[in-house]
Amino acid sequence: MKIAEESAKSDHRPIPYGRQEVTDSDIEAVAAVLRSDFLTQGALVPRFERAVAERVGAQHAVASNSATSSLHLACLALGVGPGDRVWTSPVTFVASANCARYCGADVDFVDIDPRSYNMSAVALADKLAIAKREGKLPKVVIPVHLAGQPADMETIHALGQKYGFSIIEDASHAIGGRYRDRPVGDCRYSDITVFSFHPVKIITTGEGGMAVTNDPALARRMARLNSHGITRDQAEMTSPSEGGWYYQQLELGYNYRLTELQAALGLSQLHRLDDYVARRHAIAARYDDLLRDLPVVVPWRDPRDYSGFHLYIIRLRLEEISRGHREVFERLRKAGILVNLHYIPVYRQPDFARFGFVRSDFPEAERYYAEAISIPLYPTLTDEQQQEVASAIRRAIT
Ligand SMILES: *Cc1c(COP(=O)(O)O)cnc(C)c1O
Repeated sequence: MKIAEESAKSDHRPIPYGRQEVTDSDIEAVAAVLRSDFLTQGALVPRFERAVAERVGAQHAVASNSATSSLHLACLALGVGPGDRVWTSPVTFVASANCARYCGADVDFVDIDPRSYNMSAVALADKLAIAKREGKLPKVVIPVHLAGQPADMETIHALGQKYGFSIIEDASHAIGGRYRDRPVGDCRYSDITVFSFHPVKIITTGEGGMAVTNDPALARRMARLNSHGITRDQAEMTSPSEGGWYYQQLELGYNYRLTELQAALGLSQLHRLDDYVARRHAIAARYDDLLRDLPVVVPWRDPRDYSGFHLYIIRLRLEEISRGHREVFERLRKAGILVNLHYIPVYRQPDFARFGFVRSDFPEAERYYAEAISIPLYPTLTDEQQQEVASAIRRAIT
């Protein structure tokens, strides 16, 4: 309420940090499903799965009602259970860690790289060497492509080969991006890659997620767990069919299914994926320019990669600014620029306190948390709005 009032004064609508674009053709596509026979479990979800798999260069895809569900399925398919360890980045949404907790596994974090803000491969190597000595190696490691910039997958994969862990890429921010000239999602350096279709992400289905893999057994397992652990495939059954009605529940699964309405929206949005990511890059390049003379660090890009650019994260050079991080953040919100902070390091969450994490074990994540601000970035952000954001940052800092 307060934000709306403040910004009404300046005659400007607040500018969110991210938002979806829904076109008339998206609406037509969804309306057509509403007039059809199948609102769920029809032909569009498999079509959406094939389209995404093809787009990202993976063999198989399983669509779910969120990336959180997809991450849970990925952990289950890789056999994560009680007593196992799963490591991820602390600078991520809680879902990257919760997926392991759903399986009863123990979560731990690997500090971030100070330039990419992704899981540091150096910190990972150090932590693995110690874990090996203590007999506490992880079963799965989940790098997160923060803001769309791919993590150091080649190194993380090599460590996976050396220490014997599986890899899930949390690519919730990175669909449409490339790692070393290959699409994020081709799973060259991972077992499974997960995408999110939440409205602030690159393309949306309202809520939705997808897990892609090149391993047919993992794909089958995830597809089955996505729908109660049920199979209708005779080859998977433990005994002969008892008739046309027959199916078997082979393990305890969930109802994580995406609907036909959502798949129609996703298929329609997917046509614009390349345009969206290109537009995000153009906006990012203009921000680089507009913020050039300000005491902020702009996002680093690995020149070998192509970010999905879900977020444009600045870091305040606090030693050159008379105001504090929180003050700058709140001045921006008051000015109607609905900045955000991605993310509060997950080990700081009260629900993670019982695991006894120590903040000083993650010095780079702590420094990041003290300086980072995500500023508005989405395809329909206008040049005028972008100018307004840059001016507001200038005013908030000085
Ligand atoms: C958004 C997000 C998720 C969860 O996605 P949902 O589709 O909302 O469940 C997981 N990980 C990261 C890094 C995200 O940004």
